[in-house]
Amino acid sequence: MYDVLIAGGGIAGLTAALYAARAGCSTLVLEQQYYGGQIVNAPLVENYPGIHRISGAELAQRVYDQALAAGAQYANAAVERAEPRDGGFALYTNRGIFAGRGLILATGAGSRPLGLDREQALTGHGVSYCAACDGGLYRGKDVAVAGGGNTALSDCLLLAQGCRRVYLIHRRSSFRGEASLLEQVRRQPNVELLTDATVTELLGEQRLEGIRIRQRRLRTLKVEGLFIAVGRQPRTEAFAGLVSLDPGGYIRAGEDCRTTKQGIFCAGDCRSKSIRQLCTAAADGAAAAIGLCESLSAEKKQA
Ligand code: NAP
Repeated sequence: MYDVLIAGGGIAGLTAALYAARAGCSTLVLEQQYYGGQIVNAPLVENYPGIHRISGAELAQRVYDQALAAGAQYANAAVERAEPRDGGFALYTNRGIFAGRGLILATGAGSRPLGLDREQALTGHGVSYCAACDGGLYRGKDVAVAGGGNTALSDCLLLAQGCRRVYLIHRRSSFRGEASLLEQVRRQPNVELLTDATVTELLGEQRLEGIRIRQRRLRTLKVEGLFIAVGRQPRTEAFAGLVSLDPGGYIRAGEDCRTTKQGIFCAGDCRSKSIRQLCTAAADGAAAAIGLCESLSAEKKQA
């Protein structure tokens, strides 16, 4: 049985692993995809203290190397369920069952779908949730971005560099994203802002050939790509019966990252909080690991 099992190998989970291993706890990180989480897709990170400019992938690699050098272990496995067992917890995954005295839940959040018919079938065939990953495939082509937050605005700026035309489709007349980003978007000659507009239909059989939008009246846009940037949703279904979730599905925990269940902490974007940034994910990882390792060592002393 490990001392600390960490579900999720993003920056929060890896930072938790670094702190837990340094505290002398045997530590295993379980990650379903690739280590680093969502930051891996960021071409450039300029707001991580102490590092002026770095790619998200390189930052992730550094934190991973640091955690493993400290003694943490890492495995690829998708966590499907968690339950109390033998005074600790069992994590059920697609690669078997792992046991730990304590848990840190750091599974992050994934892209929120628009909920359109065939959205899933066309994902990877014209529909994308990551402009940084897939934008290069649409060089010289017409594309659309759906959303009105910072991600949609940043995606728009990125795509405007290589695409022929970019439609930004937002359901309101005002944008949630930062004014300075919006100003930059407005300055792009090949970006058209369509406000009070919603995407109602995806067109094309094998791949996306266009979209239908409603902006007072129905209209068809011939685009080969649709980048959906309408926010994120937490990956917490596996823990729903074990810890308390808020109405948005985020795990309830304060700044100390303690969940409602003794022995379980959470860290990063899956936690109920207002600011979700790289450095707050790292901060959560540290707080969760310190809190859990302290309570494990207090338990040991009592035993
Ligand atoms: P967000 O700020 O939650 O914005 C989501 C946008 O999608 C909102 O404009 C929302 O519209 C719209 N939306 C939600 N559901 C929709 C639906 N079903 N149909 C159509 N539109 C829908 O999400 P985000 O842009 O991904 O940003 C998440 C966080 O990351 C934010 O804190 C953001 O500041 C941060 N971030 C920062 C940067 C940066 O600093 N450069 C870059 C990216 C992200 P309404 O406005 O009508 O609700």
